[in-house]
Amino acid sequence: MSQNTDILESPIEFLKGIGPSRADLLKKELSIFKFRDLLMQFPFRYVDKTQFHKIRDINYQTQQIQLRGILRRLSVAGQGGKRRLVANFRDETGVIELIWFKGVSWLEKNLNIGGEYIVYGKVNNFRGNISIPHPEIEAVTEANTSKANTFAPVYPSTEKLNSKGLDSKGRGKAMAALFEKISPHELPENLPSYIIQKFKFPSHYAALKNIHFPKSQGELDAAKARLTFEELFFLQMRLLQIRRRRKTAIKGHIFEKVGDYFNRFFKEKLPFELTGAQKRVLKEIRYDLKVGVQMNRLLQGDVGSGKTIVGLMSMLLALDNGFQACLMAPTEILAQQHFISISEYLEGLDIEVAFLSGSVKGKKRAALLERLEAGEIDILIGTHALIEDWVVFKNLGLSITDEQHRFGVAQRAKLWRKGIKYPPHILVMTATPIPRTLAMTLYGDLDVSVIDELPPGRKAIETLHKTESNRLRVIGFMKSEIAKGRQIYIVFPLIEESAKLDLQNLETGYELLLRDFPMPDYQISVVHGRMKAKDKDFEMQRFVRGETQIMVATTVIEVGVNVPNASVMIIENTERFGLSQLHQLRGRVGRGAEQSFCILMSSFKLSKEAKERIQTMVRTNNGFEIAEADLKLRGPGSIEGTQQSGILNFRIADLARDGRVLQAAREIAARILDSDPKLEKPEHQALKHYLEAHVKPVKGWSLIS
Ligand code: ADP
Ligand code: MG
Repeated sequence: MSQNTDILESPIEFLKGIGPSRADLLKKELSIFKFRDLLMQFPFRYVDKTQFHKIRDINYQTQQIQLRGILRRLSVAGQGGKRRLVANFRDETGVIELIWFKGVSWLEKNLNIGGEYIVYGKVNNFRGNISIPHPEIEAVTEANTSKANTFAPVYPSTEKLNSKGLDSKGRGKAMAALFEKISPHELPENLPSYIIQKFKFPSHYAALKNIHFPKSQGELDAAKARLTFEELFFLQMRLLQIRRRRKTAIKGHIFEKVGDYFNRFFKEKLPFELTGAQKRVLKEIRYDLKVGVQMNRLLQGDVGSGKTIVGLMSMLLALDNGFQACLMAPTEILAQQHFISISEYLEGLDIEVAFLSGSVKGKKRAALLERLEAGEIDILIGTHALIEDWVVFKNLGLSITDEQHRFGVAQRAKLWRKGIKYPPHILVMTATPIPRTLAMTLYGDLDVSVIDELPPGRKAIETLHKTESNRLRVIGFMKSEIAKGRQIYIVFPLIEESAKLDLQNLETGYELLLRDFPMPDYQISVVHGRMKAKDKDFEMQRFVRGETQIMVATTVIEVGVNVPNASVMIIENTERFGLSQLHQLRGRVGRGAEQSFCILMSSFKLSKEAKERIQTMVRTNNGFEIAEADLKLRGPGSIEGTQQSGILNFRIADLARDGRVLQAAREIAARILDSDPKLEKPEHQALKHYLEAHVKPVKGWSLIS
């Protein structure tokens, strides 16, 4: 069927029962413009019309129920705002009260005492008094009790839609009208038959019909399974196509040699044995760098897993092949720390390392830029100043970005243009562990390496949960740690909605601390979100140099700072932090030889979710485990850096739940593209057509620019 006669492309106002004014509402409220849009918004739950509860069986655990029975008594009680309609509803096993606070007069007029009704709602159990407030109620008819209509779809709705008859029932009617107009050939197969057979999927048409009008739980489950697979599979097809296209289209420098710089560093300078994971990742990178295609690799590794050394050794490969390399960090402090530690590592190897940030100005900057363009600088380390147009390399071969989630896509893309013949190879390092399912989606078009092993001999950070009643002991503990020469972080939550509140929160915390904690012996640094970058840096530096013993801060210290002597992290109002944030914060300690501690302070009363977050932190130090828990608790939108990415707005799939489906979908998509890259085989025609017609090209995220 060709596009212009595709009935599913018809404007929604042409559907029976919709018309122009309802169409307007559907467009505004739900972005439903065409028949297809209506079809593709699935119910979020179903009312199982085959199951009727018996009133006798209701107990304190019962939630949603459906009853069938006779309306016995109707009375209006209360005045004004408390005016309500109370009905007695009876089936053969008992009686229950139904209560409405809204639409009282209308209901009173329209409900028939003695009539047979179906009632659906949530049970309210108030001190053993069981009632159903605001139930849906409907007279028993042929239609609503016939077998054909066993699972009634429930669609998300709004007040406005309801008032125009587009509540769940109205939507269901429209959908029924739609299915009257279309036949199976308007929704042709979009998967190869071998996939359908493998998973015993229903047809594409049947899946779409049954997701709206399932006749049994089995039909519904099968429809869900197929549509979940479809959604994940087509996205993976797109992502893998992009990746392939890039690998054929974007040529890269070839770093053939492993030369003196790399070898001398490895033999003479490397102060420790690399972990197995570091070796594996280095091998992956070395392979990428010599195949003649631009590398686009994401390197994930928990805090302290040793990403820097991997980055450094990759840069040495660039140098060995006559190229320059750069390393960009999100803050001045981090960039400086990298500059210092890398300069130390490379001492005596005759490598020119330079530092550039906004604070390098005037003659110093001019001289640096000149040497950079002349190729006299081998490695440039700095802040986002590196991507400014006035920074010109002689021949940039590799660009590394640390703590990637702090940089926008556009910024990263910009570094590309700094290569002369080919764009530089790109390595992005992040300490925000992302669950595999998310990585496969968000970074599905990149190559991903994971360092999943910490260097040996690390002492695990001991994490404790304490409440206000333990405060004095916590303070005593702080004193004894400081007496041993350690440093301490105290972190308060950043209140983003209100800079004023944020500051207040920090200041009250700070004052309490001053009151309970005699200061003369100790110096304190304070850093909060409202300070100027320069002042922040100054305070941080005092702490880094050990001039202050305590750092009181809002979450601004989250990223990358390395103060090995800091061995205690105290987090205040822990319940207000997300899991991944807590993990990042905890990663600030445990960097030295001493046993480190993370103390999670919270109020005594906690929500179930907050409790679970804290328990997760106490239980494990593993960032990936924590990321998985976070995904389960709060959904994919909660993972840092993913919010803006529309790619996670799934119609039916759920990354926290459907990890295995995703894995299968990705493997199958990869196999198809390996064997038939251009989708030319006859068995892939349906798939190809569907991709082109209905799967939006995924542009504008990851590194595509
Ligand atoms: P991150 O991955 O958080 O950036 P770093 O690269 O800063 O971690 O490494 C953390 C610390 O671990 C550094 O002090 C580094 O020298 C050390 N380190 C890295 N790799 C190893 C190793 N294989 N064995 C021992 N220590 C290592
Ligand atoms: Mg790091």
